[in-house]
Amino acid sequence: MRKQYLHLSAYSCDKCQGPVISGSLAVRENEISKETEIRQAGAICLSCGHRQNGATKPERVRHLSPVEWDPVGAIEAGHLATAYVEALNRAELG
Ligand SMILES: [Zn+2]
Repeated sequence: MRKQYLHLSAYSCDKCQGPVISGSLAVRENEISKETEIRQAGAICLSCGHRQNGATKPERVRHLSPVEWDPVGAIEAGHLATAYVEALNRAELG
């Protein structure tokens, strides 16, 4: 059965060394299939609010256990978030 999972990881904030929580969503078609449609859901420092996408020291990222996430509505929100991130990236490049 197709299920969506939320993956959370934690790493140190570049600004305040506080915990940044980064989320991504992925879909599994069934129990044994690989995850597909992986997309970032956002990242934010719990301490100062800095939105830091990605760890400066990837070797120190802590991955938390994925949790099942109700796909109703969340998939669309994910697409919105993806579009938003892409728009931001374009803005930064331009
Ligand atoms: Zn911070």
